Amino acid sequence: MTASRSAVPTNSVEAALDAVLGDAREHRGGDLADYIPELASADREQFGIALVTMSGHVYEAGDARVPFSIQSISKPLVYAMVLDRIGLDGVHTVVGSEPSGEAFNAASFDDAGHPRNPMINAGAIATTALFPSGSGSGRGPGSGSGAGAGAGSGAGAGSGRFDGILAGLSLFAGRDLDVDEVVYRSEKGTAHRNRGLAHLMAAAGALSGDPDEAVDDYVRQCAVRVTTVDLAVAAATLAGGGLNPVTGVQVVTPESARHALSLMASCGMYDRAGEWMLRVGLPAKSGVSGGIIAASPGRMGLGVFAPPLDPAGNSLRGVAALTELSQRYGLHMLNLPRRTHPFLVEDEGAGRLRVLVRGDVDFVASETLIRHLEEVAAAGGITSILVDLSGATGIAPIAMELLRGELGFLKGIEIELAHPPNG
Ligand code: GLU
Repeated sequence: MTASRSAVPTNSVEAALDAVLGDAREHRGGDLADYIPELASADREQFGIALVTMSGHVYEAGDARVPFSIQSISKPLVYAMVLDRIGLDGVHTVVGSEPSGEAFNAASFDDAGHPRNPMINAGAIATTALFPSGSGSGRGPGSGSGAGAGAGSGAGAGSGRFDGILAGLSLFAGRDLDVDEVVYRSEKGTAHRNRGLAHLMAAAGALSGDPDEAVDDYVRQCAVRVTTVDLAVAAATLAGGGLNPVTGVQVVTPESARHALSLMASCGMYDRAGEWMLRVGLPAKSGVSGGIIAASPGRMGLGVFAPPLDPAGNSLRGVAALTELSQRYGLHMLNLPRRTHPFLVEDEGAGRLRVLVRGDVDFVASETLIRHLEEVAAAGGITSILVDLSGATGIAPIAMELLRGELGFLKGIEIELAHPPNG
C-alpha cells in the first residue's frame, strides 16, 4: 500500500478535524478484517478524515490521501446507480428494504428467498447483478421509480457491467478510480461465502444471470481503490441530491440519492445501525477495510478511514471520530431544525401593509404567514396587503397552493401575491 504523509492543518476547520482524530486515536484495540487475506496486512495506525461541503470545499486531516479498497461502501453508491437505471420497483422486486439485524455476510433472506436489503452482502450482490451491462456512466432511460425490471431483466454480464460500475464510482469520487488487483485476487480466492449466497439467491429466483459472474463483479467493485477524500466527495454527492459538489456532475438523480441515504440510515452500519442512529444520527455506510462514509443532507459529506474494526465490523476509531464530530458539530439529522422568521411586515399607512417574505417558503413558513394574515384581517383596519415573494429563496409547490387558496378565505381585504419565484 502506498504511504502518504499526514496532512498538516491549513485552517481552523482542518485543525478541528485534526483534534477529533487526536481524541479518537485514544481508542485502541480492534481487529483487522482477516477473512480477506490482503486486508490483514493493513497498517493499524493509519487514520484519516475528510469533510466536503456543498460548495465543494475539501477539508482533510491525517492520512486522508492513503489509498485502500472501498469494500462495502460501494454498496449504497452502486444501489443508487442501479435505481437510476431500472427504478425503485425494479430493484425492490428482488431485494428487500428492511434492516436485517444480522451480520453483513449472513444468509439473511425473507420467506421468498430474497435478500433483506442492498447493504448486506447478499443484497449487494443481487443489486450488482441488476446493473445493466453496457449502460456506461450516464443515467439510463429507466430513471425514476416504476421502471420495473424484475429479476429476469436488467441483469448484465461480465466486464461490460463492471466498466459501468467503475465509471459510476469514479463520478461519485470525482476522479478516475481503479481496482486494487491484489485485493481483488485476495478476496476472490476466499469468496466462498459470497458465492454460496449468490447461488442460494439464483435458486430462489432473486438473482438472474450467472451467479459467479455477479460475485466476480461484486468483488471487483469492493476492491476499487479510494482515499478518505474520495469517500467524503462521494458522501457529499449523496448529501447534495446526487450532484458531485467538486465536479458539478449530476451523478444520480436526487430521488436515487435520497433512497440510498434512506437505506444507509436504516441498514448502513451492519448490525449496529440502531445504536448508530441513536448516537450519531447520520446516514452512513462502513466497510471492512476500515472506511466509513456519513452524509449530512444539504450540509456536507464525511469520510473516515482507520483499519481496526470493532466486533460489529465497523472501524473502531472511525466510529469514535464520527460520533464526536456529530455531537460537537450538532449533525444529528433529528436535531430540531432552526428556523428564521419567514417574513417582515411594513406598514405603508392608509390601511396598507407590505409583507416581505424571505428564505425558503415551505409548508411551515406558509402556514405561519397565513395565520398572520388571518390575525391581521380579524383585527380590522387593514384594507390591502401586498405579499412580496420576490425575496424568497424558494417556494415549495404546497406553500404556493396554500397561499393562493387562502386568498379566497380572507374577506374584506384586498390581497396580492407579488413576484412568486417561478411564477
Ligand atoms: N467485499 C467484502 C465482502 O463481501 C465487503 C464486506 C464489507 O465491507 O462489509 O465480504
